[in-house]
Amino acid sequence: MRNFILAAMAAVATPSTAQPAPPPKLLVVISVDQFSANLFDEYRPQFVSGLARLASGTVFRNSYQSHALTETCPGHSTILTGDHPSRTGIVGNTWVDQSISRSDKTVYCAEDETQPGSSSIAYKVSPKHLLVPTLGELMKRKWPASRTVAVSGKDRAAVMMSGQQPDQRWYWTGKQYETDLVGVAVPTVVTKVNLLAARGLATERGPLEPTTFCQAKAREIPISGGGKPVGAGRLARKAGDQAGFRASPEFDGDTLALAAALVDEMQLGKRANPDLLAISLSATDYVGHSYGTEGEEMCLQMTELDREVGDFLKVLDSRGIDYAVALTADHGGKDVPERERLAGVADATRSDPALGAATMGKKLVADLKLPGGPGLLGENFGDFWIDRRLRASERTQLLRAAVAIYRAHPQVEAVFTARQIGATPVPRTPPETWTLIQRVRASYHAGRSGDFYVVLKRDVTPIADTSRYVATHGSVWDYDRRVPILFWRPGLTGATVERSAETTDILPTLAAMIGLPVQTGSIDGHCLRDVPGTNCPPR
Ligand SMILES: [Zn+2]
Repeated sequence: MRNFILAAMAAVATPSTAQPAPPPKLLVVISVDQFSANLFDEYRPQFVSGLARLASGTVFRNSYQSHALTETCPGHSTILTGDHPSRTGIVGNTWVDQSISRSDKTVYCAEDETQPGSSSIAYKVSPKHLLVPTLGELMKRKWPASRTVAVSGKDRAAVMMSGQQPDQRWYWTGKQYETDLVGVAVPTVVTKVNLLAARGLATERGPLEPTTFCQAKAREIPISGGGKPVGAGRLARKAGDQAGFRASPEFDGDTLALAAALVDEMQLGKRANPDLLAISLSATDYVGHSYGTEGEEMCLQMTELDREVGDFLKVLDSRGIDYAVALTADHGGKDVPERERLAGVADATRSDPALGAATMGKKLVADLKLPGGPGLLGENFGDFWIDRRLRASERTQLLRAAVAIYRAHPQVEAVFTARQIGATPVPRTPPETWTLIQRVRASYHAGRSGDFYVVLKRDVTPIADTSRYVATHGSVWDYDRRVPILFWRPGLTGATVERSAETTDILPTLAAMIGLPVQTGSIDGHCLRDVPGTNCPPR
């Protein structure tokens, strides 16, 4: 499994003894997709390599993706903009736009739907929906020669972390790493890593060898809703199995190999002004969705992720670059309800299929004798849209009936209308104190968000049919909101901070570290003074 590019690069590693005085020349920002604070807390004592090193820095173990709709695209949009989705405009992975001609009326967060041939599934990748600048763009405004490079297992993660016109942006599309950037020469290292990844994908992989800690977690759990049992798997896969490849640590290894290769290719961290390398590692998310978070599978993924990140940091050490790392997650996650119940979470369950927008919309249209159409658009939690082809009076009638029927459902915690949400100010208090409507407000952007928002009860997993995925995230609850934030620089000793922080605080903190001014009040986040080497502006 060990990636040969990283291994070769790491061979010349020497431990760094850099002193903290000058600003770092390279900011490395890593997002581990679905790396909940619960996972970090559980595995922290097990980490021995890269994640152990980063955990020796300043650790905010109670950080938040504070908003309600805890999905990949909104989460990544907060990390390097300093803003909640209410400002970034990235309210979900997808949203409904009834003004567009495509039949599903669904827009993907990182697409340009005006491009010919773009659809919500086969989309043309673009940053156009991101409404605010990223750190890389701010760095370029001050230092035009500064480079921004983004590498990810998912297009939306790479796009949201690097915004408009980065120097390089690469993401996995199922068979290789591709870019949406036009007129940018393809570095030969990309072709090399693509060959390596394609060879890996085409090769059968046997089971990974578990540590004693992971072995103790192996227990087969039956899954309701048609899915296969999970819990005692070692991430083996057949040749050419794309889903199996994505849900394996090898995928993160390849993404890190590409990141390391681009550091050399672009000579990152070698010039007068600082550069930015944004990396999003997607395998943890696919492992979580495929097997849940508390089995042998996730344990193996955590073990290998630690090692892969360690190998990557050794490459940076060996290049003599003065770098700083921030690591966080786009959202948290939750285990399968079947195993949670065994662990004593009595209310853990799967959602009632009747909650889905299509099913509920059909019922309401019939009950209210409305003139056909879907009635409601959306999924089974979060934003719901009312069919705008109905007359105003019919829409009002439908909204009232939908809110009432969802509120009365035993799996629903709360329902808020767009009017209620819009009238709520975006909170400025610590994220752990936010009410449900405040969380929903931070996800709300007028013109993109729905007509009402459904909050499912805690411990309801919104997957009834488990044939593809068995576990997920996306809720307002802290298992999906709480994530770690780690800041690390060679030679700087840190501490674990219990006080909460937000992922919107990463941009102002890194900006302060490199002497990049951020206008007070221009973003939602705040510079974190606990991080050594930051010179936070007065608040
Ligand atoms: Zn996910």
